[in-house]
Amino acid sequence: MRFLKANRLFSGEKFLAEDSVLVLDEKDQLVEIISENALDSNRIERLEGLLTPGFVNAHCHLELSHLKGQIPEHTGLPGFAKQIVSIRNAMPAEERAEHAREADKNMWNKGMVLVGDISNTEESFKIKADSKLSYHTFIELIGLHPASVGAAYERGLQLIQTLKNYNLKGSLAPHAPYSTSNELIQRISDYDASHHLPFSIHNQESLEETKFFAGEKNGFNELYDFLKLDLSWFKAPKQTSLKNYLPFLPESPSLLVHNTFSQSEEIKMAGDKGVFWCFCPAANQYIENALPDYSLFSNYKNQICLGTDSLASNVTLDVLAELNLIRQATNCFELADLLRAITSNGARALALSDHFGKLIPGKNTGLNLLEEKNSTLRFIKKTS
Ligand SMILES: [Zn+2]
Repeated sequence: MRFLKANRLFSGEKFLAEDSVLVLDEKDQLVEIISENALDSNRIERLEGLLTPGFVNAHCHLELSHLKGQIPEHTGLPGFAKQIVSIRNAMPAEERAEHAREADKNMWNKGMVLVGDISNTEESFKIKADSKLSYHTFIELIGLHPASVGAAYERGLQLIQTLKNYNLKGSLAPHAPYSTSNELIQRISDYDASHHLPFSIHNQESLEETKFFAGEKNGFNELYDFLKLDLSWFKAPKQTSLKNYLPFLPESPSLLVHNTFSQSEEIKMAGDKGVFWCFCPAANQYIENALPDYSLFSNYKNQICLGTDSLASNVTLDVLAELNLIRQATNCFELADLLRAITSNGARALALSDHFGKLIPGKNTGLNLLEEKNSTLRFIKKTS
């Protein structure tokens, strides 16, 4: 048995009373939480700092880990996407896998226990299957032309089957509103809802997306020219992307990722539907040199979670670094709100809150010791 006490203890949902002691069994599974007065003081392991459950990185692309430092900053999203398409397969597959394996290990060492990870291919499946981390994989589908729905969906189902062969959990996810038709979004949404699985979509990461949906000149037209895809059939819906696909979101948890250019009215519409707002501030700064107006989301503090995006647009896969960035950018969230974002909210968004994101009797959900200095949290170590 271990009896752990820290200066501050966060349960994944709230800060616990100062005298709280965690009782852990020999497998570091939580037995109970008791008051230190109930114990002989010598038996207590006293830790300097703030103790939290293991972290949840709600949005990552492990398979892009080999692109660290390869794409210049501040290109804007269409330029960034063009680069990804051009260079993602330039490195031999075995080297790509090495980078992904390293990134996976680093996430574990920085206190993450669960990752919501986007896959376009099966390249990272073995790494995820061998990992100490748990993953929920989003098989990402692309197809803007409504005629491509069937083929894209079938490919998605095949990848889901391959994922199952590795004993990995996963669901289907449209890439983004500007790259996926409403028909395909609907099909994916039906699949995820009927299997009670989480859904994810990159949302309003760039102002170019808003222009694309308004029918104004925009960077995605250039991207489609570059990809030699005919867009002459496309009729702009003349409303924002989020309003356009909102009716197709499933009842199961939905992660809307980025939300940099989302506006207050649509935030209310989607927020009231219960979506999770997943922020990736480091990637937003890297690609667009912009951040969401976080104050617009202050009514939905229990629906925010954080992700790192990929190493193509970030220097590290570390949700605590993302938390620190948001804390520097705004004071509209309390520390507890942001700690929930990287623990219990992330686990709820991935439909895995019975296993991760908070202190759960009978389970080891990870324990991270942190230090707080000048409003910045620093990871010290894993204590279980
Ligand atoms: Zn992403």
